[in-house]
Amino acid sequence: MSCPLCVHPIESIHHCLFACPHANEGWKKEWPTLPHPNPSIPFLEWLHALTSRYPICSIQKIIFLLWQTWKSRNERIFKNTTPWPPSTISKAASAHQQWTSCPKRSPTATLPTKLIPPPNLASPPPSSHDFEIHCDESIFRDPQEVAFGVVVMNSHGQVCDGKAESLHCFSPIEAEAKALEEGSRLAASLRSPCLVHSDCLTLVKALSEHRTTWPWRAAAWIGSIKQTLDNSPMIRIKHIGRKRNSMANWVARSCAKNTLPTEWVQILDVVSPLL
Ligand SMILES: [Zn+2]
Repeated sequence: MSCPLCVHPIESIHHCLFACPHANEGWKKEWPTLPHPNPSIPFLEWLHALTSRYPICSIQKIIFLLWQTWKSRNERIFKNTTPWPPSTISKAASAHQQWTSCPKRSPTATLPTKLIPPPNLASPPPSSHDFEIHCDESIFRDPQEVAFGVVVMNSHGQVCDGKAESLHCFSPIEAEAKALEEGSRLAASLRSPCLVHSDCLTLVKALSEHRTTWPWRAAAWIGSIKQTLDNSPMIRIKHIGRKRNSMANWVARSCAKNTLPTEWVQILDVVSPLL
């Protein structure tokens, strides 16, 4: 596919985000000394390498400029607008400012008290982890509309927290990666030993390999999971059979069909021994 902005014959990620004159003007003005990635090096490796040279605040600004450059390119295709580099730069700066001014959720502020296992249970099941998290996705309507479900259980098998959301995706692997990314982040916020399950074997394998051939957005989620794992040594990712992942699958399917009850965490806690 050719570039919609400069009609370059091949629109690679590298071209779209760096080499295209539209993108390049932004980098020259905002980050004149920023080393651009070599087209042969995976994009995420380049981004990761930057974290040792720039403070996190600068990395965030770089990511917002990348994101806005991509958005401007999409607006050219879908709205037939002509992107103007100074406008792309100022939109990226304003989105970054908006993002930094949002109040961030404190990891422990919203944890239900049930997260702490009751102390006097006669014979708690043996577990090397304080929490187990199950993640799954469900595709609905058309392949680009999906939902994910994340279910958190304490070491006594009680369902105590979770998350479900619908979103747009471009492939099933991307949806699985998003589900696992959400599960890993939830695990990191618990700050306790956690086992995070996914029934996507390809994805679990990818996390132990150094692959570069993923669809771009799935690669971004995989990169994010890897980063969470690097920062949270108490989290382990494990493959689980589809049958044993039925709760997360139910949450994702119900969310996809818009039939997930508001009190689904409490409902699952009651019915989970039956599943
Ligand atoms: Zn171009």
